[in-house]
Amino acid sequence: MKEPDATAGPVTARGELIRLEDVTKRFGTNTVLDRLNFSVDAGRHVTLIGPSGSGKTTILRLLMTLAEPDEGTITVDGERLFPAPQKQVREVRKKIGMVFQQFNLFPNMTVLRNLTEAPVQVLGMSKDEAEARARELLDLVGLADKCDARPTMLSGGQQQRVAIARALAMRPRVLLLDEVTSALDPELVAGVLDLLRDIARSTDITMLCVTHEMGFARDISDQVLMFDSGRVIEAGPPEQIFGDPEQDRTREFLSAVL
Ligand code: ADP
Repeated sequence: MKEPDATAGPVTARGELIRLEDVTKRFGTNTVLDRLNFSVDAGRHVTLIGPSGSGKTTILRLLMTLAEPDEGTITVDGERLFPAPQKQVREVRKKIGMVFQQFNLFPNMTVLRNLTEAPVQVLGMSKDEAEARARELLDLVGLADKCDARPTMLSGGQQQRVAIARALAMRPRVLLLDEVTSALDPELVAGVLDLLRDIARSTDITMLCVTHEMGFARDISDQVLMFDSGRVIEAGPPEQIFGDPEQDRTREFLSAVL
C-alpha cells in the first residue's frame, strides 16, 4: 500500500512543530505503533481517528514523554526527544499541554490554584501574574465564578473546562486532547466541544486530538489521520476522509461510528 501523506499542511522547516519518524512502540509482544511517520505544522488542527486499541492515545503519551518509543525519533519544535538530556525534555514539555479523558485535576486545590500551580512552579511566573491569567482563562471557559470551588464540587463538564483552562495557563504551543468528552454525561458534551471549537478558531495553538466525535473532528480539523493497528492508513482533509474515503477500512470504521 502507498504510504499516505500524513503531513498536515505544507512542510516547511520553519512551520513544522511535531515530527514522528519511523516510531515503533511495543508493549511486550504487542506492537502498538508500527514505524509510524507523520508531522504537524504549527497552528494546524489534526485529529486522530480509528478503532479502539489502534495506538492513538499512545502517540499523545509519547509526545508528553509519559512513555518512550522503542525505535524512531520524535521531534517537537526542532528539539529531539528520546534520548535527550533532562533539561531539554523539560523545555519541550513546557510547550505541550494535555487534557485527559478523566480531567486529572488536583482535587485538594481550589480551581484557581489548579491553574496557577504550574505557571508559578514550572514557568516561574509571579503569583499575581498567574492569578490574573487564571481569572482570564476561567472567564474564557465560562467559570469565572468558580475560582474558589474545589474540583469535586463541579460537574464533569465544568471539571473538563477547568482542565482545558489549566492546560492553556501554561501557554503551550501544542494542545493534546485525549478523548476529552468520553467520560462526560451526554448533555455536557456539546458545551465542551463548543469551547474547543472556539479555542481552535480564536487562537493559533496547534491541536492534536484523539476523538470519537466525528462531527467535531470534521469541524475543527485541517487534517484527519485514520489509524488502524498502529499505522496511519489514510490521511487527508476532513471533507475527503468523511466524504470520500479511499480505504475500505476507513469506510467500515466510519459507518460503524457515524
Ligand atoms: P487507542 O487510543 O487507539 O484506543 P491505545 O494507544 O490506548 O489505543 O492502545 C493501543 C494498544 O496498546 C492497546 O492494545 C492497549 O491495550 C495497549 N497498551 C496501551 N498502554 C499500555 C500499557 N501501559 N501496557 C500495556 N499495553 C498497553
